[in-house]
Amino acid sequence: MSKLVFRYGAMGASKSANALMVQFNYKERGMNAILLKPACENRDGAKIIKSRMGLSAECEFVEDFLSQDLGARFAREKVDAIIIDEAQFLSPDQVDAFADVVDDYHIPVLCYGLRTDFQSHLFPGSKRLLELSDNLEEIPTICWCGKKARFVARIVNGKKVEEGEQFALGGNDSYVALCRKHFRSGMIGPSFDD
Ligand SMILES: [Zn+2]
Repeated sequence: MSKLVFRYGAMGASKSANALMVQFNYKERGMNAILLKPACENRDGAKIIKSRMGLSAECEFVEDFLSQDLGARFAREKVDAIIIDEAQFLSPDQVDAFADVVDDYHIPVLCYGLRTDFQSHLFPGSKRLLELSDNLEEIPTICWCGKKARFVARIVNGKKVEEGEQFALGGNDSYVALCRKHFRSGMIGPSFDD
């Protein structure tokens, strides 16, 4: 049975690397898995999915993919799976469209993305994925203290910031994965004062 799957994690959970490895596994078996990412996610340049570990592969934009005649595309090209990176940037409507792809064309759709933003609120796309997915799988990563990190803090000049755009990417901002306690206290690393 084909499923809509949301594999979510905090920053640094190797989500892109996971997406690329899954596509590679399909390819190795002579199968065709299409890689997609939202066009609004342009951190890595156009139409490429890149992991911090150095893996990369070409992809299509979600917007282009969904605007074509999907029935015609699937009629001329056998598609075994669809893999979406940075799925937190999908709109709720796009998530619904991919649920239709699963149900109408019986093609599995695997979405990789963040659960919450730097203010610990669900991204709209992630919220819709949590609502609609057949399978939810957490990709674990750990806080500096060793506990499971389920939150992402935005760091500017070495400090956790509380305000700003949900979608701000790049610039001088960086992100760090923290456990709930250290996310809420804003302690982004061990203290060497004592
Ligand atoms: Zn911690």
